[in-house]
Amino acid sequence: MKSFSRKDAKTQRRNEYLARLCAFASLRLCVKTISLILLLSSPSFAQNGKDTYLFNDSHFHLTNYIQEGIDIHDFLKIMGNKAGRVALFGIPLQQQWSYRVDENRGPTYYLNSDAPLYYYSSTDAWIATAYKSLTKEEQARFDPMITGFNPSDMYAADHIRRVLTAFPGVFTGIGEFSIHKEFVSAKISGEVASLQDPALDRLLDFAAEVGLVVLIHNDVDVPFAKPGAEPAYAAQMKALFKRHPNTTFIWAHIGVGRIIRPVKEQAAIVEEIIGDPQLRNVHFDISWDEVAKYVVATPESINNAAAVINRHPDRFLFGTDEVAPATQEKYLKVYNQYEPLWKLLTPEASEKVRKGNYERIFDEARRKVRSWEASHIK
Ligand SMILES: [Zn+2]
Repeated sequence: MKSFSRKDAKTQRRNEYLARLCAFASLRLCVKTISLILLLSSPSFAQNGKDTYLFNDSHFHLTNYIQEGIDIHDFLKIMGNKAGRVALFGIPLQQQWSYRVDENRGPTYYLNSDAPLYYYSSTDAWIATAYKSLTKEEQARFDPMITGFNPSDMYAADHIRRVLTAFPGVFTGIGEFSIHKEFVSAKISGEVASLQDPALDRLLDFAAEVGLVVLIHNDVDVPFAKPGAEPAYAAQMKALFKRHPNTTFIWAHIGVGRIIRPVKEQAAIVEEIIGDPQLRNVHFDISWDEVAKYVVATPESINNAAAVINRHPDRFLFGTDEVAPATQEKYLKVYNQYEPLWKLLTPEASEKVRKGNYERIFDEARRKVRSWEASHIK
């Protein structure tokens, strides 16, 4: 009771102070002061000034495979006081509706149809426009990412430069873009992407020059690998990281997914990358309900994942990989799925994976990209 009455007295004092302030200041200043105080006393800020959001989301799709999604203002309400900051992107691929193939059944997902996918570069303008419709305070909670390029095209880097030029002050990184992804790669019109393509090297060099964070999806293996065979893309992925020591990478889903089960050597592959002093630029996101499913499958799998993360707390980021969720409950699904993992992390590791690593990586990228824009965009 005592603490309540102290709080009441404090609130009263604060209100009196505000009233005095408002009497002297202009209305504009008053409104600003009130919103600042409301923000600081909102549920997301603790007494010590540190935010109390559950997480920052390093992996979020505002739109789906047919470029439809939710309004960013509605998404802000869904984030509520749960998600602090979000890396925001659409999906670079559009599922074609071929009447010849699907007649009146318009497909909405890549597994709904045999018709191809194609690169939909308008997604970047869509994301930039959504971001620009927000207030400055709202914008601060998003890190928009460029995705609408074809990574097998030598001109991909030029697309990224053009988007930065058209929308300065907006983007923090590129991705999520995919090189090898189960049934997606083979469905895309044109050449199959490759980790060994000079076009990919060119765009990653450009990302390093600008300071853009790179969120890359690449399955560590093929969907139905020969038993006992080396994971198909582990070595190529490591070689790619090594060719780009100045590019900041986030390897989406630690290289696994719906069809690509964690290979036996998964933890070894991850720890080898983490242990390599030449690969300090590589991080991993644990997004996607499919990934969470593997992690929390058995007490052993949870323990193993927690042990690796506790040993290397700076290298992992939480992400949801949700696509245009309709409700907060759906948005929080992956976070809640990880509950058994959160319990086994040290307080330090938990804080870094849920929030701190995001802030460190994305803040640095924001700063670098803004400074590149200032000196390169007239
Ligand atoms: Zn994704």
